[in-house]
Amino acid sequence: MKLLILDSGHAEYVSGKEAPDKSMREWEFNTDMQYRIKALAEKHGLSVYLTNPNPTKQDEMGLSKRADLANSYWQSKNKPTALFFSIHSNAYKNTFNEARGTETYVASNASQNSKNAAKYIQDSIYNTIKSIDPNAKDRGVKVSDFTVIYKAQIPAILEEYGFYTNKDDLKILKEYRKELAEATIKGICQYFSIQYIPSDSEKPEPPIDLNPPSVEEELYENCIVYSSDADENIAQILSWDLKDCIVVSLDIYKKGLGKNIYVIGNACQSLKGDYSFYGKDRWETLDMVIKYIKGN
Ligand SMILES: [Zn+2]
Repeated sequence: MKLLILDSGHAEYVSGKEAPDKSMREWEFNTDMQYRIKALAEKHGLSVYLTNPNPTKQDEMGLSKRADLANSYWQSKNKPTALFFSIHSNAYKNTFNEARGTETYVASNASQNSKNAAKYIQDSIYNTIKSIDPNAKDRGVKVSDFTVIYKAQIPAILEEYGFYTNKDDLKILKEYRKELAEATIKGICQYFSIQYIPSDSEKPEPPIDLNPPSVEEELYENCIVYSSDADENIAQILSWDLKDCIVVSLDIYKKGLGKNIYVIGNACQSLKGDYSFYGKDRWETLDMVIKYIKGN
């Protein structure tokens, strides 16, 4: 399981935080983006948890509470690889002005993983905004101890997509949310090392070719195939013992991906003929596969 925790930043009853011409409120942008990113993340196989699933008609939620919810949920799922992503848009003064740009925050206690995530996502969002508006401004990755990211026990970043107190940024925040969500998920995919699948078929990204054309040239020496989330953990453990090894889920696996195929869990029923191990439960399966690997 790979876990994305989204934090919508503000609720409807937040005071202020709206464009000078009252055409957009920050909580409304954040919330819409939260749902867009959630849908894309799930399409990419990520598990998604929302600290505030329905901010409509609600008071602001405390910042510590957001971090606490994220930490408890992550712990309840046995601490999977995760990212905490807090969604915001920015303001400078309360009249329209020149300040604009995209910036991503990490806390002063940020791990390298947090910094990597911030860089990937900042670059991806900025590049997208720049393609919409050549005058877009890259404010870069910054350090600030916002409570939500400082208290999160997992890699955590806070995104300020743009300024709703700047007319050009505001236009993007209002009219290009699909593109902003795509840019975000692209950076998130990079962080989780999973393949990004663009929604817009007119501008396809060249996909990483997991399906080699011929079976004579296997891509990897070893390939472990699993079918369920529980088996994924086992597959990862097993891969430590195997050189040049790729771990894939059954729906991604294609013949020719590996020379030696290790199939665990229910996946073996669909892949008869390759090596497969199927114990009465996943621990028995793990045992069988370890014995097999040690014996080779
Ligand atoms: Zn905010």
